Parts: sequence; structure tokens; C-alpha cells
Amino acid sequence: MDKMFKPLVQLSKGNLKLQQALAAADRVFELVDRDAEVLVTPGCLTPEMIEGRIEFEGVSFGYRPDKTVLRDLSLLIRPGETVAIVGSSGAGKSTVVNLLMRFYEPTSGKILVDGYPITRLSLGYLRSKIGLVLQEPVLFSGTIRENIKYGKLQASDEEVSRASKAANAHEFIVSLQKGYDTEIGERGITLSVGQRQRIAIARALLKDPSILIFDEATSNIDSESESLIQDALRRVAKGRTLIVIGHRLSSIIDAERIVVIENGGIAEEGTHEVLMSKGGAYNRLYEAQVDRLVTGNKNLT
Ligand code: ADP
Repeated sequence: MDKMFKPLVQLSKGNLKLQQALAAADRVFELVDRDAEVLVTPGCLTPEMIEGRIEFEGVSFGYRPDKTVLRDLSLLIRPGETVAIVGSSGAGKSTVVNLLMRFYEPTSGKILVDGYPITRLSLGYLRSKIGLVLQEPVLFSGTIRENIKYGKLQASDEEVSRASKAANAHEFIVSLQKGYDTEIGERGITLSVGQRQRIAIARALLKDPSILIFDEATSNIDSESESLIQDALRRVAKGRTLIVIGHRLSSIIDAERIVVIENGGIAEEGTHEVLMSKGGAYNRLYEAQVDRLVTGNKNLT
């Protein structure tokens, strides 16, 4: 009995491990079996040029069927316009971008770019025309040059430095000992959020996109970085449609038009002055931000 006991215990433990492994394998295969995104479908369009006109027509969407995030949202952004999208956290600002990039499909309504329904455009083409700079840009382990080139793999060194100059990243890059060949990520140096965002702007610019979407960092950015980013955005906005998911007053106030998203739809839109005089949703958001700034300053002193 004594000799049999141990192997029996081991056998039952082995079975438990096997069951866990099978459950994990199920999840792995679910991912492996997923259909890859089809970037080019038969009959899809790839117009010679995109001006950057964006239209949302009665778009509704929810990540889960029981929770609607956007409700019948209609929005027109003209080519070359700079629009700030603001709203409280979770209002659906990033969702607007997710739908435009076709990371998700709306449950109803249409999204058009230059009058073409985005579902008719080749997915690869659509994404190549939109430059996206995220709050926390994804940079890979590798050199700065490799990271910027990720925007356009065949870009020349000259194109890389031109894009970096426009993004106000060139100066800090060349001040590093190894310049563009500096390793970043796990094996290399750590960059500030502001520097990472400027690298991401350079990366996006390399594609020469007609539409640039900039999701401002919410985490602390030093004021020098902030003004360098502001300056870069002003420069790159020329001839492009620029959408700023606004978290900072300076860039929001700067925008030609501010769109306030609330309860899944557009609560208000207009310039800073017009919206302030209305005393509505924007006014409340603004006051809350100013309050935070003031309290922040108090903490500092
Ligand atoms: P914002 O950018 O305004 O902060 P989001 O567009 O990210 O807001 O999110 C809108 C709502 O959708 C939030 O309630 C959020 O929790 C939810 N949400 C966002 N992304 C996902 C996702 N991938 N899956 C499920 N729910 C999500």
C-alpha cells in the first residue's frame, strides 16, 4: 500500500497539469486559428490621392452588445482642418479613432474618407494614409533609426532625419552619443514620454499621411517637451487633417474646432471662445482642468 500511494498521488497531480495545459492549448489555438486581417480584398479601392475629409454618418458602436459607446454620432472634418476631440475619460474619444482605423466595425452608420466608405477602401491603403501617434507610443528594442523607419521600411537616412526634424526630435537624437544608432528599449537608454512621442511623430510622418491623429500623453510631460510637441504639430498640420485627442489645454485652445464627446454623442462643437461663452460641457471640462492645474501648483509650492 505504501509503495502504491506515492505513484497514485503523482498520477493525479499529473492529470491536473494535463488539464491545465489542455485549457491553455485551447486558448492558444483559438488565437492561431483566428482569421488574419485581409489588407487587400477583391474590388477594393486605392484612390491616387486622399485629401483627408472624414465623415461619420450616424455611427453607433459598442465593444459589447449590452454597452453602447457611440450613439448615432455624426461628424464632418474637412481636409486640412485641425480638430481637437475632448471629453471625460471613457467618453469614447479613442473609439472614434479605432473605428476610423477599422480596428473595429460600427454596428450601424457609415464612415467615409474623401467620400469613399472606408469599407470600400483597401485596409492597408486606408491605414497607410493615416498616421497614428498614441499616448504611450510603442517603441521596440532596437536603434532609434530602426524605430522611426518602422513607419516606412524602405525610407532613406535622409528621409528619416527630415521627418525627425519636422517632429522636433532630430536635435535630441543627435545630441546622444550614438545619435540615430542609439539603442532604446530593454538593452538601451530610456526615453521620456515626450521624446517617445516625438519619435512616434517622426515615424508617422515618414508615411506622409493625409490624416494625422495625435493622442496626447496624459502622463507627465515636461513643459519643454510639451512646447516642442506643440510646435511640431503646428508644422506638420500644414496640408494635413489633424485630429488631436486633447488632454492638454494649450493644444485644445489652439485647435480650429473643438468637438466635445459626451454620452456617446457630440455634446458641443466650436472654437474655444464660443464654447466657453456657452457655459456647457466644454466649460465644465475646462474649469475642472484649470482647477487641477491650480491644485497641482499649490502642491508644488
Ligand atoms: P476615451 O478615449 O474617451 O477615454 P474610450 O474610447 O477608450 O474612451 O472608451 C470608451 C468606452 O469603451 C469605455 O467605457 C471603455 O471602458 C470601453 N472600451 C474601450 N476599449 C474597449 C475594448 N477594447 N473592449 C471593451 N471595452 C472597451
